[in-house]
Amino acid sequence: MLTNNARELLTAIVGKENVETSQASKLVYSFDATPQFQAMPDAIVSPRSASEVAQVVKWCNEQEIPVVPRGSGTNLSAGTTPLQGGIVLLMKHLDKILEIDEENLTVTAQPGVNTLELMEAVEAKGLFYPPDPSSMKISQIGGNINENSGGLRGLKYGVTRDYVLGLEVVLPNGEKIRTGGKLAKDVAGYDLTRLFVGSEGTLGIITEATLKLIPMPETKKTVLALYEDMEAAARTVSKIIASKIIPSTLEFLDQPTVKVVEDFSKIGLPTHAKAVLLIEQDGDAAVVEKDIARILSICEENQAIEVSMAASEAEAEALRTARRSALSALARLKPTTILEDATVPRSEIANMVYAINQIAEKHQVEICTFGHAGDGNLHPTCLTDARDKEEMERVEQAFEEIFTTAVALGGTITGEHGVGAMKAPYLHLKLGVAGVEAMRSIKQAFDPKNIMNPGKMFAKENRQRVVVKQ
Ligand SMILES: Cc1cc2nc3c(=O)[nH]c(=O)nc-3n(C[C@H](O)[C@H](O)[C@H](O)COP(=O)(O)OP(=O)(O)OC[C@H]3O[C@@H](n4cnc5c(N)ncnc54)[C@H](O)[C@@H]3O)c2cc1C
Repeated sequence: MLTNNARELLTAIVGKENVETSQASKLVYSFDATPQFQAMPDAIVSPRSASEVAQVVKWCNEQEIPVVPRGSGTNLSAGTTPLQGGIVLLMKHLDKILEIDEENLTVTAQPGVNTLELMEAVEAKGLFYPPDPSSMKISQIGGNINENSGGLRGLKYGVTRDYVLGLEVVLPNGEKIRTGGKLAKDVAGYDLTRLFVGSEGTLGIITEATLKLIPMPETKKTVLALYEDMEAAARTVSKIIASKIIPSTLEFLDQPTVKVVEDFSKIGLPTHAKAVLLIEQDGDAAVVEKDIARILSICEENQAIEVSMAASEAEAEALRTARRSALSALARLKPTTILEDATVPRSEIANMVYAINQIAEKHQVEICTFGHAGDGNLHPTCLTDARDKEEMERVEQAFEEIFTTAVALGGTITGEHGVGAMKAPYLHLKLGVAGVEAMRSIKQAFDPKNIMNPGKMFAKENRQRVVVKQ
């Protein structure tokens, strides 16, 4: 609970209308897109400028009040659940695109800019910002940077990290720093820009970002390939890459996911196939033509039962949209949907999907799998009901085995969704205890009072999910 004095102080910084303390508001910001995690904040504060962010954070640091920065709250790792109460810091007023620099090929934006809005703004100038999380209609650039989000175009173009050139950051003590800039080269000291990317709001608040743009690809073609078995689909993925073609998209959906997505999107997806690959190539027209011809023959050589090419951009967009709606479609089936993002080297995709199916059978839980086959980033998605405690225990065990298997195959516990509170208990599987301690010492150096998004990343002991703090 904030004292009257504290509320007055915050009001003096950001204005009365930007400090919310009603029970209804606190409930709204007590959870994010992650199932089973909930905790009440003490207040929701929406600064109107970086300087107001700095004043709020400085005061919180002095008072040792937790600060949970929040974009649109679409993260899937309980990254914005205010586990220890405190202040949820909303970026809704920091929502301006400040500059599109066509000479340096950069865009500079505030953190609250919507991802799709930024993409469309640069595309209107013939430029391209490739990171395309499926949540882009809702998510914000600040959230994307802090989760280092990826998307369908990650295989060829990389993830958010590959486009962040410079940042303005408010540190936990209220000081503002600038890292990087509109520079193609910069080796002045430690790479703080990279450190803040993917830091999940645990090191500071990003108040401005300069992002790299590239020229818009000239053309794009989209292929759908259907398979009778998973191995053939996985083999196709390996063969395409081995033939030195890097498609812009190489997505995989298993049969249960295709059925649910078709029921949701009604675009005529092939529900009879056991596995489906969505493959795209973009770039120079002649190169796309050549690559797609080779991709079609690799699909056929690897026992695709059907291969078709989207006849128009509208048809291709419908396929992409259908793939992006996989989580929303699956979420309609059961009260609780837990989506994970175990990631393996792409050569291990078939082994990983096989292992996921075995683990689901062993623990008698329902898991559908889809994901970015080209990057080895799979989304095993469990359809369950959080009210069934006995089933939830089996779900937990199944996911622990999935993470252990992914790491044993040379992979990781998360490819793009971040650690947050949800995967904190598993971080040591990937990093080892010494690795976690090295990260903890970085956190300690930036945030000695642990006010920034506490309970995330390192909360190994905190496996309790629903923490409703009044
Ligand atoms: C339907 C659906 C589809 C999705 N698809 C994808 C996908 O394809 N790829 C993918 O990678 N993810 C995906 N996600 C996950 C999620 O959308 C991404 O992690 C996204 O980047 C989060 O953005 P956000 O604005 O909602 O951030 P939030 O969820 O609000 O915050 C994310 C993290 O960033 C921190 N943060 C936010 N803003 C700031 C700031 N200014 N300064 C410091 N810290 C900050 C928060 O504290 C939190 O730790 C999906 C989620 C859903 C619900």
